[in-house]
Amino acid sequence: MADNASEKKTLQEVMTILEKANGKVHVLPDEPPLDQAVYLILRENWDYRKATKVLHDLQRDYVDWNEIRVTTAGEMRGVLAPYGDRDVDVKIEKLRTLLDNLYKEFNTCDLGFLKEMEMDQQRRYLSTLGVLTPAQVQILVQTMQPSLEEFEVPQQAVRVLTRIGIMPRVYSASSARKHVEKLSDELDVYAFQAHLVQHGEDVCLNKSPHCGECSLVALCGFKRKVGVVGKAS
Ligand code: SF4
Repeated sequence: MADNASEKKTLQEVMTILEKANGKVHVLPDEPPLDQAVYLILRENWDYRKATKVLHDLQRDYVDWNEIRVTTAGEMRGVLAPYGDRDVDVKIEKLRTLLDNLYKEFNTCDLGFLKEMEMDQQRRYLSTLGVLTPAQVQILVQTMQPSLEEFEVPQQAVRVLTRIGIMPRVYSASSARKHVEKLSDELDVYAFQAHLVQHGEDVCLNKSPHCGECSLVALCGFKRKVGVVGKAS
């Protein structure tokens, strides 16, 4: 293991590289969970200002999310299209699927009921909705916690940081959190979680990491890199 100063530096480099690849993470933690989920879908490939404006337009033009659920795709396009054609139909389809699945599964167009649940249960329920990525699910779970002080280090983040060599093997959620707290004086919890969950899901997979395609390979001390010339495969 490297010393604390070099671990801190490596974590900063990791976050810089992942932010460059995935884009900035921006959340609206004061919005209710479903509004936050809609915002995260609008944010995919869209600037946060545009996504915020469209969210506010939807909130202004419709009584509630159930009214949006039963509206037509054409009417929704009327709200989204003035902000640019890019991905509008994909976003509309995702929003409609999110609201339809929420209604089918839980007979509601509100995610407030999740606030009473444990994190793992929240994660499971959000994943069943079928359109949210694991990183989006993680952001939503974290926004539903009473405070950022008790932030969670997701298992994907533990895996990536352990393989890179800046986290020891940890056996509890609290020891993982304590170690991450030592690595960063001003941790952006949402960015930390979202980027590392996405990397752990897309590239640094549990059984077979795609090291040959990994943007962190130069920083990584994992001895069994897969698909990298000169390393075991
Ligand atoms: S090089 Fe391989 S083990 Fe290291 S972070 Fe990337 S995918 Fe994970």
